Amino acid sequence: MKYFDLDLLKFLLFEVHGLDNLLKYPKYSEFDKDSILMFLDAAKDIADKEMYPYYQDCDKQPARYEDGGIKIHPQMDNIFRAITDSGFVGAHLAPEFGGMNMPHVIVGATGLIYCAANNHALAYLALTVGAANLITSFGTMAQVEEYVPHMLTSKWMGTMCLTEPEAGSSLGNMRTTATPVSDGSYNIKGQKIFISGGDHQFADNFVHMVLARIDGAPQGVKGISLFIVPKYRNTEDGSLEFNDVLTAGDYQKMGQKGYCTAHLMFGENDNCKGWLVGEENKGLKYMFQMMNQARLEVGLTAAAVSTAAYYHSLEYARERVQGQRLSQKGEKVTEQTQIVNHADVRRMLLMQRAVGIGSMALIIEAFKYYDLIGVTEGEEKENNFLMLDLLTPIAKAYPTEFGITSTSYGIQTLGGYGYTVDFLQEQFMRDIRITSIYEGTTTIQALDLLGRKVAAQNGKPLMLLMGILNESIAEAKRFDELIPFAEQLGKSIGTIQKTMEYLLPFAFQMQYEKFLKDATLFFEMMSHVIISWQWLKIGISAMKKEDAKYNDAFHKTNLLTMEYYFNYELPKILSLKEIITKDQNTTIPGDIDYLN
Ligand SMILES: Cc1cc2nc3c(=O)[nH]c(=O)nc-3n(C[C@H](O)[C@H](O)[C@H](O)COP(=O)(O)OP(=O)(O)OC[C@H]3O[C@@H](n4cnc5c(N)ncnc54)[C@H](O)[C@@H]3O)c2cc1C
Repeated sequence: MKYFDLDLLKFLLFEVHGLDNLLKYPKYSEFDKDSILMFLDAAKDIADKEMYPYYQDCDKQPARYEDGGIKIHPQMDNIFRAITDSGFVGAHLAPEFGGMNMPHVIVGATGLIYCAANNHALAYLALTVGAANLITSFGTMAQVEEYVPHMLTSKWMGTMCLTEPEAGSSLGNMRTTATPVSDGSYNIKGQKIFISGGDHQFADNFVHMVLARIDGAPQGVKGISLFIVPKYRNTEDGSLEFNDVLTAGDYQKMGQKGYCTAHLMFGENDNCKGWLVGEENKGLKYMFQMMNQARLEVGLTAAAVSTAAYYHSLEYARERVQGQRLSQKGEKVTEQTQIVNHADVRRMLLMQRAVGIGSMALIIEAFKYYDLIGVTEGEEKENNFLMLDLLTPIAKAYPTEFGITSTSYGIQTLGGYGYTVDFLQEQFMRDIRITSIYEGTTTIQALDLLGRKVAAQNGKPLMLLMGILNESIAEAKRFDELIPFAEQLGKSIGTIQKTMEYLLPFAFQMQYEKFLKDATLFFEMMSHVIISWQWLKIGISAMKKEDAKYNDAFHKTNLLTMEYYFNYELPKILSLKEIITKDQNTTIPGDIDYLN
């Protein structure tokens, strides 16, 4: 069964996003198009052989808590080994840290392949790399040497430990404490819940990146520091000893059952040591590096799952026969037609394709900015940073939120069979559901987008984005077939601007509840514009037909999907604008709680 289209990924990378231009920077001199294509082919091979065949079984044999530890599916070890042996783990790190300066965009593209095959597995390694990256960015050279080489073998794995029972979306309320000890370390005490990849049988050690408060630190987010807290700590004789990090349980979940979720207790026996990373009280700022990367990775996961779900429902719709075509109404037709011939089924399929591939394109765009930041200077670098910052909440929340709807359409396309365990659709649905919750819920992304990102620096990020969109619009207008779409996108920029003109005065008057109450709807609006932009870019590449490898049918499918997005999804911004700009307080809590 098809779960991924590698040619399409290559098209997005090299035709739509012009990866060749990125590879011209000296930092990436070790890479060329051929070597990248080979790397992607090898990844697909691993995904085909080691990951996809075990996808359903990872769900059937979930991670479980046993004898004080967590056991995960036995195939995970083979997956970890195969991916590590391929050179993927830490590939984007600088050579001095054991990496090879691989562009993030290639790491992200490879992640799309792996997550489409089996979304339970890759995140163990992604968290490990994210944790290693935090240490190389903010730790001392001694900390790098102590932990990072082990992590790049993936025999030591990394986690991010933020959430506590009283601190989920609101991290400022965290209570885990760090008390300085004379040897330069800190005694860590507290509990962290929902820790992904927090414990299992296939790692020799876990390097937990823990946020905690040093005694006497300021209240709120300004008093949070970052610590390395290994499960087993190094001793002077070179052996490892238990660092009092206990696993209290594994949360049993509706999906992603192969990806364990630990409840960890630090310092239950007052013998847990942590080592400060960087400066005191700057922990949350540092952790945002890992969180922002993880946000793109969660978006990537959702894009991959929803795309896999699309290919499965398409295959079903081509085989399942039911009813007659509307055009045959009144005729004596004895044979039933395939459901793919019903307009409404096609609408659902096009929606799934548009969301999944549009999300993939956006993820690649965001990772490209990540790379550009690393190779540019001065104002150009600053602008690339602002673009990444602006796109990150959308690249996290759009693929997840709309991917959930799209995957639900995947079930709907299969009718009753979609609801049964005979097909993978129900597993895709259960697996993708978490993505709009962890790494900051959709609401948290929306508040970030409207409350911080678009309004930052007097609206500079939004102006930058509009400028870039206008460049694509101008390019699209070179092709007659694309002019109506380019004009529609141009008008939609005006709709965003009008909405901002309505909202911003509330911010200036510090009426934050009125400013932000519909942040999630504003995010939806922005998302439709951004994904339309991605589809317009795909449309431009379809018109250019630069690489003969892609045939007419390939381009026509993409042009049709683009047309779908502009006809069915982008117009939604008009009703969203009407809702957001109406002077009403329906959702603002009053003195009396009328909900019952
Ligand atoms: C499977 C899984 C894996 C996870 N992995 C990790 C991990 O590896 N490391 C880690 O640290 N954490 C992890 N988490 C925790 C995850 O990041 C949190 O669950 C998430 O951030 C939401 O926090 P919460 O569950 O406390 O919900 P809450 O914060 O209680 O939110 C509940 C609801 O209220 C809304 N809400 C909250 N605050 C506001 C606000 N200010 N304005 C408007 N609405 C608001 C939310 O959007 C949500 O709809 C994981 C969770 C799960 C379920």
